[in-house]
Amino acid sequence: MGPAGPRLEDGHRPLDRPRGLSHRHIRSPQLNAAPADQIRLLDVQALDVRLQQLAHKRRSLPEHAEIESLNKDLTQLRDLLVAAQTEESDCAREQTKAEQDVDQVRQRAVRDQKRLDSGAVSSPKDLENLQREITSLAKRQGDLEDVVLEVMERRESAQERVAELTERVSSVQSKIDDATSRRDAAFESLDGETATVTKEREVIAGTIPADLLKLYDKLREQQGGVGAARLYQRRCEGCRLELNITEVNEVKAASPDTVLRCENCRRILVRTSESGL
Ligand SMILES: [Zn+2]
Repeated sequence: MGPAGPRLEDGHRPLDRPRGLSHRHIRSPQLNAAPADQIRLLDVQALDVRLQQLAHKRRSLPEHAEIESLNKDLTQLRDLLVAAQTEESDCAREQTKAEQDVDQVRQRAVRDQKRLDSGAVSSPKDLENLQREITSLAKRQGDLEDVVLEVMERRESAQERVAELTERVSSVQSKIDDATSRRDAAFESLDGETATVTKEREVIAGTIPADLLKLYDKLREQQGGVGAARLYQRRCEGCRLELNITEVNEVKAASPDTVLRCENCRRILVRTSESGL
């Protein structure tokens, strides 16, 4: 592939664009600024890019996703914990009730036994009834004690679940605390650098003519954060397109004070010693 191969040609603009348009676009006779001011605009641009990068980095810290996902886990675990705690206190209530039932039956059996032992009941029919009731109360007490045991088992497993979930909640919470302090440390460092760069930007921007800075800020907003581009080896570094020969000649003919605009991307095009003119 020769020096004029397709790769190079790709970067060229078509030559058949309307002449009047080109003339109006490449030169902005309304706006003039000393070459040194134009070059300092590139310094402002570099700082603005840096500020954008810092803001992007701040927004996309891996800790954000980590904390979000851990918080989801935490919410789920807390719901499960509340459910287990509710189950445990329900069991506790049920256990108390079942124990009271056992007590009642036991007291009644004790009363019956005392009556039987006192000899106050003498009729064989009454004695038989009393005996039968004591037997039936014993069976009833046994059944109720089984209920108590069953409730106690359920309560115990609910307690184990509460303990396990409490442990997991606290483990996730400490992971959140850890990620949060990593995030905050990153914030601190990024915010510190942002403050420094912002100050530096302010100082340099303060030395640039207001009309040039205003145009730059407007273009930067429209053009994804890049309002001024260096013309490097006949190529606009904003859109990477190479100027065609007509445009190069127009640039060459323009006064150094003229603020040029890239015809393709409309950005301010700044000439330097490396512009290849
Ligand atoms: Zn361009």
